[in-house]
Amino acid sequence: MNQKLVKSQAAAEKADLYAVVSSSGKILFISSNSKQHFGYEQGELVGKYIKEMIHPEDSFLVESYFYNDHHLYPCTFRFQKKTYDYVWVETSADFIENRLVSEEREVVIKLKLCSNVPYWPSFLALSKDRYTEKKQESPLKEEALSMLETLPSPVFIAINGQFQYVNQSMVSLLGAASPEELAGRSVFDFILEEYHDITRTCISRLHNNSFVGLVEQTWKRLDGKLVEAEVKSASTVYNGQKAELIVVIDISSRKKFQKILQKSRERYQKLIQNSIDTIAVIHQYNWVFMNESGVNLFHANDYPELLGKSIFYFMMEEDQQQTKCVLDRILSGKSEVEEIKQSWKTFAGTVIYTEAVCIPTTFFGEPAVQMILRDISDRKTTEELMLRSEKLSVAGQLAAGIAHEIRNPLTAIKGFLQLMQPPKETNPYYSIVFSELNRIELILSELLLLAKPQESVFSRTSIKTLIQDVVTLLETQANLRSISILQNHEASGLQINCDQNQLKQVFINLIKNAIDAMPEGGQILISTNADREKLTIQVRDKGKGIPPEVLKRMGEPFFTTKEKGTGLGLMITYNIIENHNGSIQAESKPGEGTVFTIALPL
Ligand code: ADP
Ligand code: MG
Repeated sequence: MNQKLVKSQAAAEKADLYAVVSSSGKILFISSNSKQHFGYEQGELVGKYIKEMIHPEDSFLVESYFYNDHHLYPCTFRFQKKTYDYVWVETSADFIENRLVSEEREVVIKLKLCSNVPYWPSFLALSKDRYTEKKQESPLKEEALSMLETLPSPVFIAINGQFQYVNQSMVSLLGAASPEELAGRSVFDFILEEYHDITRTCISRLHNNSFVGLVEQTWKRLDGKLVEAEVKSASTVYNGQKAELIVVIDISSRKKFQKILQKSRERYQKLIQNSIDTIAVIHQYNWVFMNESGVNLFHANDYPELLGKSIFYFMMEEDQQQTKCVLDRILSGKSEVEEIKQSWKTFAGTVIYTEAVCIPTTFFGEPAVQMILRDISDRKTTEELMLRSEKLSVAGQLAAGIAHEIRNPLTAIKGFLQLMQPPKETNPYYSIVFSELNRIELILSELLLLAKPQESVFSRTSIKTLIQDVVTLLETQANLRSISILQNHEASGLQINCDQNQLKQVFINLIKNAIDAMPEGGQILISTNADREKLTIQVRDKGKGIPPEVLKRMGEPFFTTKEKGTGLGLMITYNIIENHNGSIQAESKPGEGTVFTIALPL
C-alpha cells in the first residue's frame, strides 16, 4: 500500500468509507468504519467480490464503472448490509487509480452513504453555477437530467413546499423565464389559498410515506394567469432531506372543455324545460321524465303527479292499442322515428288532442322512448269549425234552391186545397194534409232565413224590448206546458246594432228548444249583462240537458234528436250570431239543464 492509501485510511475514520478494489472487483481493503456503516468487520469484506454485495438491479452500473475507463464520474448503487437490507452508496470523485501495487489494476474508491431512498443528484439544484459546474460529472446522469429537463410534463422537487429543482416544463407552466426565478420560492406562492390546507396535508402524508392520490388545484402563474392542475406526488430524498417529487399536469383545457360541456348541457336542459312542446321520456310505458310544458299540458300541479305513472292511465282508450304498437316498434329497434296522434285525459277532466313524435332513447341504460307531444286541440276545434261552416254554406246554397223550387208549387197547392175545403166531418184526411203542408212551409221559411243572409238590415235596437217581444210570442205556448219564462236584465236600456228579425229568430229558436227540453214543465231564465266591450245574453233551462255526443253535433244541418224536429234551428242561430260577429256557446249537464251564452260586440 502506498502513502496515499495510508492517508486515506486516516480519513476513513470520519464519515466516508474507503476501499481498495481490484479491477476484477475483489475487495482488497476496506476502512474500519465498514462496521458502523455496513455491519461487517473489516476482515469479513476483504477478499470478497464487491458484486456479491451489490443489489442485482444496480450491478450493471457498477460493472460499467469498474470495466470502463470513465471512472471520473460518480456511481450510485445499493450495497447490502450484513443485515441483508440495502444502503444507497455513492462513489465520489475522489477516485484514485493505483497501478503501482500490483499488475492487476487496483482502484481506491471513496464511498459516501446516501439515504435509503433513491437520491436526487445535487447538481439538479436551482443554482445555476452548480448546475453547469457539475453537469459533466456523468454521461448517464447527464442523459437522465436532460431527459428530465426536456420532459414535456412539468416536474419539480420541493422540500416542505420549497422548490429545489424545477424542470423546463414547470418553469414555463409557472410563466417564469428561468429556473433561477423560482429559486427560494415555495409552492404556496403559486397555489391558490383555498388549496393550501390540502397541500400541507399532502406534504405531511408524503413525509410519513402515506399514500397521496391525485390532487386537483389551481395555480397562479407569475403573470397572474390561473392554471388548473392535477398533481401527482411521491416522496423522495433531496440532499439527504425528505422531499416531495411532484408531477404537475395542466388540465386547464380539460377543465375549460368540462365547463363548455356543462354550459351546453345546461343550455340543452333549458331548451327542453322551456320548450312549448311537451318533451317526455317513457320507460316501460311509464312517464319517467316530463318537462314544464308537459306538466301544464296535463294540468298537473307538479311532476310527481305524472312521473312513474302509466301513460295509459292518461290516454283515451281508443288510442291505447295503436300507441302501444308504436312504442313497441321503437323499443325493439324496428323503427327510428314514429308519428302518431292521440287524445289524453287531463287532471282537469278535459280531453286534449296531441300529435307525437317518438324516438328511441335510453333510461338508465335500458331502452326507452322519447316523446315530443304537441297540443293540437285548438287546431282540431278549428278544423271542426271549418267543417261545420263548410256544411253551413252548402246547406245555405241548398236552401236557396229548395226554397225557390218548392215554395211556388206549394203556394199553388195550398191555395187550391183551401178552395176545395170540404166539411171537416166528411174527410178526416184533409186536415192531415193541410197540417203537413204547414210543416213544409215552416221548414221552408227557416231555410229561407239561411238562404238570404245578405238581406239583413241592421238597426239600433233595445235588447230588452227585443227579448220581451219574443217572450210575449212564446209565453202562451210555454204556459200550456207549465213553463214560466223569467227575465233578468242587468243591461236594460242598452241598445245594440243588429238585425231585429234575425235576432228574434235566435231567441225563438233557443226558447223553443228550451221548452222542448222540459216536457215536465219548469223555468226558463233569460238574463242580459254588459261590460265595456260586449253584451252577454244567457238562456238557461232546467231541462234534460244535452249528452256530449249531441253537444258535439249541435248546429249541424238536419241534426235533431226530436221526432218532429227539423235540425235547422241551431244551425240558423249559429249563422245569425256569426253574422253579428258574436259568439255562442252551449254548456250542459245532463239531467240538470242547459245554458246558451251569446256574446255580441258593442
Ligand atoms: P230541432 O230543435 O229541430 O231538433 P235544433 O237545431 O234546434 O233542431 O236542435 C238540435 C238538437 O239539439 C235538438 O234536437 C236537441 O237534441 C238539442 N238541443 C238543442 N237545445 C237544447 C236544449 N236546450 N236542451 C236539450 N237539448 C237541446
Ligand atoms: Mg229547435
